[in-house]
Amino acid sequence: MDLDTIREIMRPAVPDAVGQWRDGYAWLAGGTWLFSEPQPALDTLIDLESFAWPALQASPAGLDIAATCRIAELYHFAAPAEWIAAPLLRECCDSLLASFKIWNTATVGGNICMSLPAGPMISLAVALEGELTLWPCDGEPRQVQCLDFTTGNHANILRPGELLRNIHLPASALAKRFAFRRASLTKLGRSAALLIGTRGGAEEDLRITITAATPRPVQLHFARPPSAEELRHAIDAAIPPDAYFDDVHGSGPYKRHLTHHFAEQIRAELTAAAGAE
Ligand SMILES: Cc1cc2nc3c(=O)[nH]c(=O)nc-3n(C[C@H](O)[C@H](O)[C@H](O)COP(=O)(O)OP(=O)(O)OC[C@H]3O[C@@H](n4cnc5c(N)ncnc54)[C@H](O)[C@@H]3O)c2cc1C
Repeated sequence: MDLDTIREIMRPAVPDAVGQWRDGYAWLAGGTWLFSEPQPALDTLIDLESFAWPALQASPAGLDIAATCRIAELYHFAAPAEWIAAPLLRECCDSLLASFKIWNTATVGGNICMSLPAGPMISLAVALEGELTLWPCDGEPRQVQCLDFTTGNHANILRPGELLRNIHLPASALAKRFAFRRASLTKLGRSAALLIGTRGGAEEDLRITITAATPRPVQLHFARPPSAEELRHAIDAAIPPDAYFDDVHGSGPYKRHLTHHFAEQIRAELTAAAGAE
């Protein structure tokens, strides 16, 4: 839609060229959310595309994803064979309720910064132990775990004008076995629950990441695989029954049911794969 409050679109070569940040400014990534509803508080959009950051850089340390990388670009990334968790990239891209236009325009960083419960790039980055690089308006870049970035529905730790620059997925996490479960009330609909389990590395620890069912991501970490009962207790300790995200995409009790159901499937799958139980 047309945004009739916007007076200027800036296309700086570097973030410092923006000058003093003020109310009315917003970073523009793919624009799929920004242009989907009126933005009466905004008068200036600052286009991130002009920074021309390389979208994807693979190295022995892992995968660096520029915030401006399109969902479609991530989908087509060809990972090294040893990154056996790489199919998660496509699973999560496919979990965005998206038309062809959104899919080819939306960015990984835009999805994370939207911080919606059903943000699949958040699910991906949290499950793969992602680290975010944030560029404050004034001050040194800071690193945060993706798990700590989203604080609630459409809420995160970004300070005014702060920019998400990069998402780093460590090679150690990309080399883990994984299990993926997702449900939506409608075909191609927004996720009601999206759970990812990973297991591997020297310690063979198990992580189960719960997203979409809760306002912000929850990650359960077990040094050794839990029993089914231990898992149930761990979920209930981390997410009280009234803490599930109740919305048009599923009631709280429904999402709680899916969370327990999928978490148990993941536990069984990843422990059976290791022959541990
Ligand atoms: C029909 C429809 C369906 C949708 N379905 C889903 C869905 O299933 N799940 C979901 O999560 N979202 C969904 N969305 C919301 C949105 O389109 C996506 O979250 C998308 O990934 C946002 O990416 P973008 O690059 O287009 O962000 P933009 O619209 O450009 O920006 C989104 C917000 O993030 C800020 N921002 C963007 N990049 C940065 C950055 N690098 N640093 C700091 N701030 C930044 C912007 O200022 C803005 O506030 C949907 C939207 C529509 C219209």
